[in-house]
Amino acid sequence: MIEVKNVHKSFNDNEVIKGVSLSLKEGEVVTILGPSGSGKTTFLRCLNFLEEADSGSITVNDHEVIFGQASANDVLQLRRSMGMVFQNYALFLNKTAKQNIMEPMVIVHGYSTQQAAARAEELLAVIGLPDHGDYYPSQLSGGQKQRIGIARALAVHPTVLLFDEPTAALDPELVGEVLKVMKAVKDAGVAMIVVTHEMQFAYEVSNRVIFMADGVIVEEGTPQQIFETPQEARTKSFLNRFT
Ligand code: ADP
Repeated sequence: MIEVKNVHKSFNDNEVIKGVSLSLKEGEVVTILGPSGSGKTTFLRCLNFLEEADSGSITVNDHEVIFGQASANDVLQLRRSMGMVFQNYALFLNKTAKQNIMEPMVIVHGYSTQQAAARAEELLAVIGLPDHGDYYPSQLSGGQKQRIGIARALAVHPTVLLFDEPTAALDPELVGEVLKVMKAVKDAGVAMIVVTHEMQFAYEVSNRVIFMADGVIVEEGTPQQIFETPQEARTKSFLNRFT
């Protein structure tokens, strides 16, 4: 359903993604682990053109887009099939929770205000915040803000959700509520690519774990393979830091 082939990305002469490929089946959850600076965030941002990769391609729902040769229409079509959840939530501070969820539905996806409002209400209930639609981000906890971020990304029925360290900015006691919503998203059958340091989430929720270092995929496998019998020295030494 999603096929990413041979992505390369340099910043000036610093090559940070060195030929990364990834494929994802419908409803599959893939977690990307790796040391800081290994290119995880850059890779994720390349997938929906927040950064433009130098070469490689991405195919979503049979529509292939070649990096370096994409038209504005390619980018728009690709973004319509993907939602992204950011570490710092990226909510509009002058809009309410409900307006934040509605905004991309109306502006990018052409929903009517009425349709968008109904979908936002539905999602506020799904994320456990049915009574918080009129709250502004400043009136919400970090965990609540991130749940709104997830609802916003989910609103337009994306094929895949991309998560860039969604719990990294949260106080530890707020991490659980966000992971719970992410599990619910998986249970609803939405495919996810998740960059995270939450090892327990990676172990329990993902179908596949990718270990990345220095811009390449060092090793990938089922959570059991990666956590219980890692093959590569770099994977072992990274995981040792978390046990
Ligand atoms: P990770 O997510 O694994 O921590 P990143 O993708 O954030 O890694 O970063 C990979 C490398 O790319 C780092 O060396 C970082 O400094 C560099 N990098 C990321 N974004 C930029 C940018 N906009 N300009 C220049 N270098 C960048």
